[in-house]
Amino acid sequence: MRNKISELGVVVGYACNFKCAHCGVSGKKQLRLTRAEISLVVDSINSYAIRSLLFVGGEPSLYVEDINRILSGVRDLKNTGVRITTNGHFSKTKASAIQLLSKFSRLTKVQLSYDVFHKKFLPLSRVTNLYQACSALGIHFSVVLSIQSPLDLALIQDLRKAGPFPVGVQKVLPTGSARENGLSLLFQSFDADVLSRRCPNRDGLIYLCGEGFSVCCSSLVFNCPANNYIHSTVGRHLRSRFYKLITKHPFQEIIGRLGLPLSVCDFKPCHSNPCGICEHIFTAAAQKRGAGESIKSCRKRNSL
Ligand code: SF4
Ligand code: SF4
Repeated sequence: MRNKISELGVVVGYACNFKCAHCGVSGKKQLRLTRAEISLVVDSINSYAIRSLLFVGGEPSLYVEDINRILSGVRDLKNTGVRITTNGHFSKTKASAIQLLSKFSRLTKVQLSYDVFHKKFLPLSRVTNLYQACSALGIHFSVVLSIQSPLDLALIQDLRKAGPFPVGVQKVLPTGSARENGLSLLFQSFDADVLSRRCPNRDGLIYLCGEGFSVCCSSLVFNCPANNYIHSTVGRHLRSRFYKLITKHPFQEIIGRLGLPLSVCDFKPCHSNPCGICEHIFTAAAQKRGAGESIKSCRKRNSL
């Protein structure tokens, strides 16, 4: 089988011991992987020979047993990269961080979420402890910093005191609590350059516990509940029109292929990033489909 998937992300469950104001998944706390889903994920990893896995939540360290169940079924585990995105809550000391990280049967990378929102729950000393624990265990360590304003970049100076690790920056997107709390990076006007951009996650896939597989790990799957963006198997997803559109085309072309009458003046400043414009385009397509279906059923009723 041809391997089209550079990385599979797995949402193992949505439970979390932090309560960040910008949390994108705050509404799904009760969901976690079932045994049947664990088998499905393992089969998919082996069938598509996926060599990079990412476990996310919620907080994935609350689901070490489930993660190890998946890892125990992976055929070529020693050649598979395994990373987690964590809130680092277990790093009160370097020793406690080493103890928790050592419970994973394989772990090659740890990505810590740290920003003005996580900072309320995680003192900087824990960042240092986690970095040192990863260094001691030979695990690659990095931080992902979500910003809602350029001023938030000042936190990088603080992080430099914790260690010389890479820091990636991403924008807060309006999903989950971030949307409810009105938190996201603000743009002055619509930046039309986004029309020539593509989905940033187009080479990967994610398995959302309780739902299925999708190339989307952001606005569409979290903000648009009744949708065609998630499928029960990898094969169904790869064959879907949505997957073909989002992985092959920039947004300008997707608008054309969906036959949407959208022009630059239909977009707002909040559509200036790929996920913002993507949600707007596919919502417009769903509305167009819905309108088409109600015209069809109206015609059918009238012809009876
Ligand atoms: S953003 Fe992450 S750490 Fe914060 S509440 Fe949500 S899942 Fe937990
Ligand atoms: S919202 Fe669209 S652009 Fe963003 S990850 Fe999902 S599919 Fe990709």
